Amino acid sequence: MTCDIYRKSLFEIPKGLIYLDGNSLGPLPRGAADRLQRTARDEWGQMLIGAWNSAGWMDQPAQLGDRIAPLIGAHPGTVMVGETLSIRIYQLLDAALRLRPDRKVILSDTGNFPSDLYVASGLITQLQTGHELTLAEPDALIAAITSEVAVVMLTDVDYRTSRRHEMDRITAAAHDAGALVVWDLAHSAGALPVDLAGCQTDFAAGCSYKYLNGGPGAPAFAYVAPGLAERITPALSGWLGHRAPFDFGLDYRPAAGAARLRIGTPPVLQMAALDAALDVFDGISMDAVFARSRTLSERFQSLIAQHCPQLVLASPAASEDRGSHLSYRHPQGYAIIQALIARGVVGDFRAPDILRFGITPLYLDEADIDQAVAVCAQVLEKRLWDDPTYLARQPVT
Ligand SMILES: *Cc1c(COP(=O)(O)O)cnc(C)c1O
Repeated sequence: MTCDIYRKSLFEIPKGLIYLDGNSLGPLPRGAADRLQRTARDEWGQMLIGAWNSAGWMDQPAQLGDRIAPLIGAHPGTVMVGETLSIRIYQLLDAALRLRPDRKVILSDTGNFPSDLYVASGLITQLQTGHELTLAEPDALIAAITSEVAVVMLTDVDYRTSRRHEMDRITAAAHDAGALVVWDLAHSAGALPVDLAGCQTDFAAGCSYKYLNGGPGAPAFAYVAPGLAERITPALSGWLGHRAPFDFGLDYRPAAGAARLRIGTPPVLQMAALDAALDVFDGISMDAVFARSRTLSERFQSLIAQHCPQLVLASPAASEDRGSHLSYRHPQGYAIIQALIARGVVGDFRAPDILRFGITPLYLDEADIDQAVAVCAQVLEKRLWDDPTYLARQPVT
């Protein structure tokens, strides 16, 4: 059974493989492979440096930003692509803190991704202005937004449990308390509808190699609300965020609007791959994508409950409260995932005991879900995971 958002033929997925890890690294869109070839051969190869102008390389960060904007509820001109997500979090958090110089607390939650928390701690150390990072439990977040809080920095969908925050309520509560928000959309962009403008979000960032399928190391995106862009002077004020980079003036003068978030030379080949990857989203609504994701994830959830009772649900039970992956706990989670991968069902593991399964309806259907659960039931029933090759940890889990 399929429906009109299903477009598996646009992806290069090895035959027989059930890929439940698009939340970590999206599969290769066929168009991206072709585009990489063409950009390398016809543009880099034939046009050489002239391609910065004639192939539009210099405009990629803004152009790709405008393609991602509708997927996250942002207006044109408010999203810039480039750099990594960790760098974007640093840049936006710094910009937000400078807008609230009298407040010293960055509020986040215990479900946030470590890189975001490490970046916040590193920024605090560097600023030496007496800031502190406070972590609340995800459910107790709103109560923790006091008048001391400068910035609420959160990841919309928890990378471990898939728990989804209420972006509208939290953003409104932060604003009521005089704080700004920085939302990380790593597990949201390309997976579910996000309404940055509607929620009046101040800042947001996300990566493009997960649900957006831009490829390993694909550049991140950064969003700044239209009214705020002119009021920030971003950290890492590189030449391409300058008003006139090719004047080569000695003083930094930020470009108008979100373009000031640019830092240095864009990774042209990665940008080209991402541009082609975004073609996959042409003509579909994120509401439709998420609706299918929920249908498939509810099916997965009920089949696992029936056939794999050893796995304990770690995600919210209601599909509307989570993102597009499902997580389970099991003390042998790592070995189970390895045994599944060896049988063509690819999920991943997050310490200490979480098994993650990404439900990506662009290339998964009911038959894949049923087959994945059947393999999982076998692995658990017959203890197929209990094998030295599956128990030994690799560096990337
Ligand atoms: C995947 C992810 C990152 C990764 O950041 P990179 O700089 O791209 O390595 C950061 N934050 C969250 C919430 C993520 O899920």
